[in-house]
Amino acid sequence: MNLVCPLCNGLYKVVFNCSQCNTIMVDKGPLVNLMDDYSPYLLDEITYLVDGVKRGECLHTYRCPNCGFKQNYSIERKVF
Ligand SMILES: [Zn+2]
Ligand SMILES: [Zn+2]
Repeated sequence: MNLVCPLCNGLYKVVFNCSQCNTIMVDKGPLVNLMDDYSPYLLDEITYLVDGVKRGECLHTYRCPNCGFKQNYSIERKVF
């Protein structure tokens, strides 16, 4: 059994509205995948950044195309 993030795998989309102006926010992708490109020297910082994110969740960054407001959302991974 594999836990996969439905957003990363294109299974479905999750829509969030901007808390500042109520515009539908755009998924900028998973934070963890972005970090995979980082060098091992940054591992401590990565651990710090993802601290507080539960296993089984994928942290996505959403950005509002209207006002630029950014927010991270934890997406629950599903068994697929
Ligand atoms: Zn994801
Ligand atoms: Zn906004």
